[in-house]
Amino acid sequence: MQVKEILLQKPDGQDIVAKGWVRTKRGQANIVFININDGSTISNIQAVVEDGVISEDILKKITTGACIAVTGKLVASAGAGQSVEIIASEIEVYGIADETFPMQPKKHSLEFLREKAHLRFRTNTFGAIFRIRHALAFAVHKYYNDNGFFYLHTPIITASDAEGAGEMFRVSTFEANKAPLAEDGSIDYTQDFFGRETSLTVSGQLEGELGALALSKIYTFGPTFRAENSNTTRHLAEFWMIEPEVAFYELEDNMNLAEDFVKYVIKYALENCADDLAFLEKRLLEEEKSKPQNDRSELSLLDKLKFVVENDFERITYTEAVEILIRSKPAQKKQFQYEVAWGIDLQSEHERYLVEKHFKKPVILTNYPKDIKAFYMKQDDDNGAAPGPTVRAMDVLFPGIGEIIGGSQREDNYEKLLKRVEEVGIDPENIWWYLETRKFGSAPHSGFGLGFERLVLFVTGMGNIRDVIPFPRAPKTAEF
Ligand code: ATP
Ligand code: MG
Ligand code: MG
Ligand code: MG
Repeated sequence: MQVKEILLQKPDGQDIVAKGWVRTKRGQANIVFININDGSTISNIQAVVEDGVISEDILKKITTGACIAVTGKLVASAGAGQSVEIIASEIEVYGIADETFPMQPKKHSLEFLREKAHLRFRTNTFGAIFRIRHALAFAVHKYYNDNGFFYLHTPIITASDAEGAGEMFRVSTFEANKAPLAEDGSIDYTQDFFGRETSLTVSGQLEGELGALALSKIYTFGPTFRAENSNTTRHLAEFWMIEPEVAFYELEDNMNLAEDFVKYVIKYALENCADDLAFLEKRLLEEEKSKPQNDRSELSLLDKLKFVVENDFERITYTEAVEILIRSKPAQKKQFQYEVAWGIDLQSEHERYLVEKHFKKPVILTNYPKDIKAFYMKQDDDNGAAPGPTVRAMDVLFPGIGEIIGGSQREDNYEKLLKRVEEVGIDPENIWWYLETRKFGSAPHSGFGLGFERLVLFVTGMGNIRDVIPFPRAPKTAEF
């Protein structure tokens, strides 16, 4: 029985076995208390060892980090903070952990734990994070399934670069320096495994669109890869993305879907991860206390999550956002490191200003300048107040994070799409299959990508994206 289940049992003195890793062992005269955790829940189960019941030899082997099985009777506990405990009659030691075990019961820095990624699972903090991550992944599937979407598996190895950002990891079977060369001196990929240049996917969107233009409502949820060469707390080289794609949806439907979906999964976590969230909230409160007064967060983690679930997101155009940012400039002073003007790609400092200082709630920004967005976004017929051409893009911005979702209505007009493809320098031959969907039964459609780790980052209140994925991949970071 898992510890989570044991803790829910009625303590009638029945025989029970609890297995797990020792968190703490405390000895008093004639009695020893051992707390074990098996990762099924944030709570430990306490084993009480009365004098003489377990041999000294075995007791000596039971130190923090050891793995043991405790057999005994389940009784009501008199101690605070736990309802039941086990009066041990037998203990089997599966694996000892000597004093070099790095996860001793003291506060470790997250940097230290990142270096010990193979063992950080055994801490309360990472146990909580990965259980919440699991719950969110489950909620994602549940949401889409319950709303008539089909889970479509898009390829991990692709020949297309959806974002055109040049951040792709090449996939090749050629050995270094032994690749055959073409006449012009470039690598001859026609001799490679797939007979052409291939990479790890940066997004399943283009393939997802093929599914949507037949099954109407699909979503992907898979790993994506980007050779991000900067070290930020918001970027990974390998991350998971959720990408719904829906036929007959226009930009506004897309915004409604994004808002409803994000609220649903956060609410799911609030309802199903209460203990883990309460633990992380307490941890954060302690962290906040060490910060200067005016850097402290106004809301606790749970209040922040509830606020997002209960309030409408602000919806404004990129052009309006730029006006707000320009107006926000204090006289004589520089407000941002990166100056704002219509046409720039907003930086995280701008996004966070809009969300955290101006609106104080999540914001959906729409109708971005055409030149800073990907080729597949639908061009606006009317630019409204914007000084240049815009596209039906939408980014969802979250407090503490900035961009959490990027999406758009897709260009469904064949001629316009082809023109745009050529403008940005993509060889139409390379995405002939994508272009053909606009030739045969094209339909208005929309979709977006939610970076799963950014969502987990928000829900757990953690500060660095490397702490919300079990095995972070970042520049010079791939230990195993
Ligand atoms: P950013 O501006 O933060 O670099 P992006 O605009 O390049 O993000 P998109 O191509 O719009 O990202 O991808 C959709 C979503 O995927 C983003 O909104 C974000 O949540 C997530 N995402 C993008 N790049 C990364 C990354 N390197 N690591 C983790 N999540 C990412
Ligand atoms: Mg990016
Ligand atoms: Mg962006
Ligand atoms: Mg984006």
